[in-house]
Amino acid sequence: MDKWKKRTRAVHAGIRRSQYNEVSEAIFLTQGFVYDSAEQAEARFVKAGEDEFIYARYGNPTVAMFEDRIASLEGVEAGFATASGMAAVNGALMALVKAGDHVVSSRALFGSCLYILEDVLGRFGVEITLVDGRDLGAWKAAIRPDTRIVFCESVSNPTLEVIDLGALADIAHANGALLVVDNVFATPIFSYAAEAGADLIVYSSTKHIDGQGRCLGGVILGKRELVRGPVEAYLKHTGGAMSPFNAWVMLKSLDTMDLRVRAQSATAQALAEGIEGHAAVGHVLYPGLKSHPQHALAMAQAGNGGTVMAIDLKGGKEAAFRFLNALEIFTISNNFADSKSIVTHPATTTHQRLPQAQKDLLGITPGLIRLSCGLEDTDDLLADVLQALAQV
Ligand SMILES: *Cc1c(COP(=O)(O)O)cnc(C)c1O
Repeated sequence: MDKWKKRTRAVHAGIRRSQYNEVSEAIFLTQGFVYDSAEQAEARFVKAGEDEFIYARYGNPTVAMFEDRIASLEGVEAGFATASGMAAVNGALMALVKAGDHVVSSRALFGSCLYILEDVLGRFGVEITLVDGRDLGAWKAAIRPDTRIVFCESVSNPTLEVIDLGALADIAHANGALLVVDNVFATPIFSYAAEAGADLIVYSSTKHIDGQGRCLGGVILGKRELVRGPVEAYLKHTGGAMSPFNAWVMLKSLDTMDLRVRAQSATAQALAEGIEGHAAVGHVLYPGLKSHPQHALAMAQAGNGGTVMAIDLKGGKEAAFRFLNALEIFTISNNFADSKSIVTHPATTTHQRLPQAQKDLLGITPGLIRLSCGLEDTDDLLADVLQALAQV
């Protein structure tokens, strides 16, 4: 498979055919697997081979097809698929740390990631230091000899801060720490995390991988020794496995992910350019715009601004709500990376829980709006945004 390009691997990698030689991947909706003999059962529990399964919490042929396909796309050796993105973040972190360890993380994080770091790991005696992820000096100053993990969202939700992953991997590795990256915003299509040196790469497959708003899922990707070692051991015993049905949905979604993500990113670029400078808009945050403070870094790393942007309306919450309610195509929801365009007001929904001081620090202002571009016609979406801005 390695000799083929990503689009080819997205359709064929990881395929496992049953005795019927089906064309489309089968859903193996089974919890367990039978053995030809007691001896075979014993041997499998000693060591299961690549295509030998025991129980769906440990692994399943449909789930394995998805894991191998997304690992091939990411350019890593192995993957473990999980029930949700948060099961993946939790699994990656919990599998690697113990009481007394230190974790350094960027501050601009999805709320549930912050909860795992501060509330869960904190309760078990893991010390957390949060830094401004854009400041390499801050990372360097925070890392200590007992730092076990360096964690970040490669591009942050919803303020689109971009992290220099190569430099961060060097800082982590020079101190004997592992770099764990939540790579949702970067997308598997424009990902550079493996080349940059990330040790574990985590996706919520709920986002661009499903991409059509149906199933929750997640995946942890990296070197075989880590994924099939501590990560698999933790997850198979604690029950974070992806269901075979969801794995099948994700697997079929990978066939079209490249087409979808490229089209949605092109639309996002066009919308960002079309909105920037509008009288009602304070600023547009989109890595594909030259005005983004880290535009050059984003282009060097991903070569693309992605499918999501944030805009800050001058009129604050009142203007933001008027804008949301005036949109005709964009639907109000808290998800993103769907084929349907979605608009979110983070300050009152996804980031409502954060104390005001933290919202201020992260730039989650009352006028901030997140726009996730779907697969609708670009001109229609731009017209929708402009007519709604006119009503602000
Ligand atoms: C959505 C998201 C998650 C959580 O994924 P779920 O599938 O909803 O559990 C984690 N990190 C980031 C950056 C996300 O956007």
